[in-house]
Amino acid sequence: MARHDVVIIGTGPAGLGTAFALLDSARPPSILMLDRNAFSSGGLRNDCKMNFTWPVGFPESSWDEATAVRYLARVEAFLKPEILERRNVSVYAGRAARLGAGLLEIRQAHLGTDGGLELIKSLVAELGRRGVEFGLGEAAHEVWPVVGASGGGDRFRISTPKREVSCRDLIVAPGRGGFAFLQGLMTSLGVPFVDNVVDIGLRVETREEHYPIVKDYYDPKFLFPQKVRTFCTNSRAAHVVQEKYEDTDGKPWYSVNGHSWSLSRPSNGLANFAFLRTITLTEPLASGQSYARMLGVQASLLGGGAPIVQRVGDFRLGKRSKAATMNGDLYDFEPTLVSATPGDISLACPSKILRALWRGLKSLDTIVPGVLHPSTLMYYPEIKLYANRPVFLDGSFLVQPGLRLIGDGAGTSRGITAAWASGLRAAEGILGENDGGARPLKAY
Ligand SMILES: Cc1cc2nc3c(=O)[nH]c(=O)nc-3n(C[C@H](O)[C@H](O)[C@H](O)COP(=O)(O)OP(=O)(O)OC[C@H]3O[C@@H](n4cnc5c(N)ncnc54)[C@H](O)[C@@H]3O)c2cc1C
Repeated sequence: MARHDVVIIGTGPAGLGTAFALLDSARPPSILMLDRNAFSSGGLRNDCKMNFTWPVGFPESSWDEATAVRYLARVEAFLKPEILERRNVSVYAGRAARLGAGLLEIRQAHLGTDGGLELIKSLVAELGRRGVEFGLGEAAHEVWPVVGASGGGDRFRISTPKREVSCRDLIVAPGRGGFAFLQGLMTSLGVPFVDNVVDIGLRVETREEHYPIVKDYYDPKFLFPQKVRTFCTNSRAAHVVQEKYEDTDGKPWYSVNGHSWSLSRPSNGLANFAFLRTITLTEPLASGQSYARMLGVQASLLGGGAPIVQRVGDFRLGKRSKAATMNGDLYDFEPTLVSATPGDISLACPSKILRALWRGLKSLDTIVPGVLHPSTLMYYPEIKLYANRPVFLDGSFLVQPGLRLIGDGAGTSRGITAAWASGLRAAEGILGENDGGARPLKAY
């Protein structure tokens, strides 16, 4: 059986950050990186907006400001982003403050989906040149501990459809899409975890002229009362997309998302952004994923096997949107997600969530007048499954000797830069030089 010092499951930013940090050590370990896809499938590939300001993307259960700022500087030094200019932010921030909302000022870079793919290719090529072995298109299926491992011996075996490998240190960074795999792994290895937090909301799509802030600030992050916020804004050549998930019995359901191409592509004049409410579940219903899955299946049922889309003009009148009246007169642009079903989001979204979202949208319309134009589209559901939170034993995200769980899947990040920073901390743990967590991390 082949062996490597370190196996990394997942080639997203968390896994890549780990690999580069390990290679920079005095005696680099041998590394195998596995990914079930041919390329990393997360946000590095989709739109690739990179945020370099605390607290964007950094869950406070795993990070404090000083630690995040320290690691962000290292991520920035490595990735060398071109930070976008922001204009008129104080005008919008002043309006937000008067409504009890906030606007975060963030240093951002944007590569676009095509630019992100180029970045991934160059990073993977560089790792290859430096001796990292890749198993792309090769999913990790099972992980089990080596019985009686001691001293410097290997501690884990990993099976893929193609082989079995062993390693001393294992990094598991499967992203949001790898939730089920990560939960299965934690259950089989006896790692305690909770998953009680989930974001539920809409994706709003409108003409750029109705949300002109995007010309001043690429991805404006507004925070509203009741844990409602804007997230992942895309413009210039922006599209709404759907992501497919599966219920436990294999039934498909969908969450919407958004991305845009780099400036080299022609603009379609549209902008989209997520509008989300964070839900923290308490006893007795503790699984955010089960709750989200249930809402996703319900929306898919009402949408005839697709997400639902509704015009703001119809929503205000309490009417469902219909294919026959979806376009025309004021409804003067077509949805970019053509598979979405015109319908009634209030039938599918729990009223407590929808009320908070609508209140937030009305505030947003006061800050950026026009965003609630009758033609504006609301797609439902947009669900962010952030919520596998293992109990970590130290600041390098260790959960068992030799086993570290990092990135969005393990709740140590909510964005590209924080995922990369998580990888740096995990690598330092392996190298015995972690400075990010003399303190044990809080369980969420
Ligand atoms: C559509 C979309 C757009 C986004 N846009 C942005 C953005 O613009 N800016 C931003 O900061 N964040 C964005 N995000 C969030 C961002 O993608 C994540 O925060 C970040 O990529 C998390 O990094 P990660 O390494 O934890 O996971 P990921 O980047 O998701 O990488 C995990 C990798 O693990 C692989 N994997 C999963 N299971 C297995 C398995 N069993 N075996 C082998 N491989 C496996 C997956 O194929 C994947 O490539 C976006 C996310 C999505 C889905």
